[in-house]
Amino acid sequence: MRKLYAAITVPRRPSRTGALMASALLVTLAVGGHRSALAESPVGCLAGDWIAEAVAFVTEETGVPPPDICVRSANPAYLMRLVLPAALDSTNKEIVAAVYVPATHEILLADVLDPGTPLARSYLVHELVHAQQFAAHAHERVSCPGVLEGDAYATQALYLRAKGLGDEAFLLQVLGMFQSACGYSD
Ligand SMILES: [Zn+2]
Repeated sequence: MRKLYAAITVPRRPSRTGALMASALLVTLAVGGHRSALAESPVGCLAGDWIAEAVAFVTEETGVPPPDICVRSANPAYLMRLVLPAALDSTNKEIVAAVYVPATHEILLADVLDPGTPLARSYLVHELVHAQQFAAHAHERVSCPGVLEGDAYATQALYLRAKGLGDEAFLLQVLGMFQSACGYSD
């Protein structure tokens, strides 16, 4: 069974605006993987107004409500192993902020993110866009995974801008544009 994980990585100190410059995107195509996302993820879906707010934002911006998903909190180390164990060594300075797992309809958010902050919520917005893309089978039509990222980053940037975080929005917008040029990934 084919699994596709999409994740954004953030610096270990996401509170520093400048550190966002180091943000990188990680998209993994894991073919024939045997790992189960549910096996290690915490039990129970998160709930809260912040999730409803993110869903409402994505619905308004895209005109389509995201599919039903379960938002869970997960340890960054677990997220790291989930997306791409080989690509990130122990000396890296980034953490995986969020992952969408199509097979289980889960969004896993790093537990170091405070959902009270717009930045943390913007990662949920990003992954909700991925959930929408997979529900629409967009991943089967694009020329590279970066195209999916371009959309996700663009919507995430809109969210950040709406929250008054113009600098962060700009950086993610640029990052998304680079991704969607299909130069990064296979
Ligand atoms: Zn993404």
